[in-house]
Amino acid sequence: MSTYGRIISFAKPYHRYFPRYVVFAFLSIIFGLVNLALLKPLFQVIFETETEEELLKMADTTGLSFGKDYIEALFYQKFIAFREANGPNSALIYVSIVIGISALFSNLFTYISNVIMGYMRADLIEKLRNKVFNNTSKLHLGFFAGERKGDIMSRMTNDVQEIEVTLVSSIKVFFREPATIIIYLTFLFITSVQLTLFTLVFFPIMGFIISEIVKKLKKKAILSQESLGRIVNLMDEVFGGMRVIKAFNAQKYIGGLFEKETETYKKINVSMARKNELASPISQFLGISVVATLLVVGGNLVLNNETDLDGASLLVYIIVFSQILTPAKGISQSFSNIQRGMASAERIFKLIDEEPKIQDKPNAQIKSSFDTNIAFKEVGFVYEKEPVLSDINVTVNKGQTIALVGSSGAGKSTLADLVPRFYDTTLGEISIDGIPIKDIEINSLRNLMGVVTQESILFNDSVARNIAFAMPNAKEEDIIKAAKIANAHEFIVNLEGGYNASVGERGGKLSGGQRQRISIARAIMKNPPILILDEATSALDTESEKLVQEALTNLMKNRTSIVIAHRLSTIQHADLILVMDKGRIVERGNHEDLITQKGIYHKLINMQAV
Ligand code: ADP
Repeated sequence: MSTYGRIISFAKPYHRYFPRYVVFAFLSIIFGLVNLALLKPLFQVIFETETEEELLKMADTTGLSFGKDYIEALFYQKFIAFREANGPNSALIYVSIVIGISALFSNLFTYISNVIMGYMRADLIEKLRNKVFNNTSKLHLGFFAGERKGDIMSRMTNDVQEIEVTLVSSIKVFFREPATIIIYLTFLFITSVQLTLFTLVFFPIMGFIISEIVKKLKKKAILSQESLGRIVNLMDEVFGGMRVIKAFNAQKYIGGLFEKETETYKKINVSMARKNELASPISQFLGISVVATLLVVGGNLVLNNETDLDGASLLVYIIVFSQILTPAKGISQSFSNIQRGMASAERIFKLIDEEPKIQDKPNAQIKSSFDTNIAFKEVGFVYEKEPVLSDINVTVNKGQTIALVGSSGAGKSTLADLVPRFYDTTLGEISIDGIPIKDIEINSLRNLMGVVTQESILFNDSVARNIAFAMPNAKEEDIIKAAKIANAHEFIVNLEGGYNASVGERGGKLSGGQRQRISIARAIMKNPPILILDEATSALDTESEKLVQEALTNLMKNRTSIVIAHRLSTIQHADLILVMDKGRIVERGNHEDLITQKGIYHKLINMQAV
């Protein structure tokens, strides 16, 4: 399906919008034309161009079937009657009133058709944005690491908006403007075949010049959106990392990067504006030239009596003709909009079409309990090229706590990420109770696990909702119970608003230790048999650390835990400690075993003791 067709397909159900739009748009065009046509009798009154005899001829309905001429004749009957009864001044009022009424209808119908279009546009954008959001949030974690967050956000905001603008103009291009041109042209043909054939030569020339200009725009539009993506990305990074920027006095450096990017954006847009803005004056100039030529040619025909057109008809003809230029210009303008919108649409569809790399197998098993063990067999993993994990063999029995230690970059987090299938193993296999996790339905697999990350991720919502995260039906008493076990109840009730207090953006209204305890309460609330903990006690003060440590101990009671340990003092009671280095397990055993081995673990303990 073409990109354009795909965008339009979001406007479903069409039957609610298109027929109604077409009817009202059509009516508004017709009344608009009637309005212009009524100028003829107006001129006839003012300039007294027609003799009584000629007018009577025009008012004769005999032999006419229902159509333009018939309606015109009826109009003239009334017109003559008015003129005879009250003189030309009242005929003027009569014509003006009819013009007013028809203008009222024309604008009313324009309004209705535009409102219908407004509905359709809003509906379409809502569906499109939800679709991108839902598809994107289903993607594997790796996608968000590789693809830049700012770029994704820019696609969801700017590109969707771009499509919003494009779409409205494009439907006008495909219906309203061509319909206007066809109806007006028909009128012109009826008025004078000779003149109309002459003018038709000019249209293709104008069209060709303008289309050449817009063709060059599309490439620039893509560059412009990409540059905007980088700007958004930079802002996201900067405002998120303000503390570091200030501490390093890096405002100037960051400002430089920002200005460089905004300059790129400026250059692209200036160059786009140069071409884009050329379309309008060129078409305007060409349009007026055509009208001027027409005046000369038509005027000569009338003056030399070489046509049955009279002066009033020629004036109406030229006015109607000049009105065709507006939709013609509209079409050319819209084509450039469509080009821009297409670039946006392609970027959006790339996001929609991205397949999640981690998906359920067709016959994936639902696993609702954890009974015996988690086993890693010959597990290996690469992110891009270099192996990050190799030859991982270990069995974690139910109820055990295993700790992963090792220097930064050793592969501890990556190993922990493999268990809930945030990433899939490249080599070997992880199984739970003997079932490979790749055969287990992902949701049920993740339901068995609680993940507490080093950085507590809180959402801008109430404390209660952050604890009962994604559990809209959670009971208040359960939330309080979880908070108590997590050592969080006391500080929560002291907050203004208690459990209903907002935690602020990313939990910004709370301290680091408080955030930690809320995310521990969240894990307790979920009550999973398996826990994956990324210990983050290093950034806390002693008091907080004690509270968090206690909360963690409560959380780990009667569960199976995989702990990424940063503080070796906290894992001395672990059943098994795995020391990792460069993606391999280099030592294993409990605390005492490893101390006696006098290997890396021993060294690390000594280092931390200093
Ligand atoms: P640790 O948790 O022990 O500090 P990690 O598991 O975070 O170690 O990282 C192990 C290695 O994998 C490091 O060399 C790191 O640079 C690399 N790595 C981590 N995440 C990614 C990623 N998303 N893409 C590519 N490489 C990564």
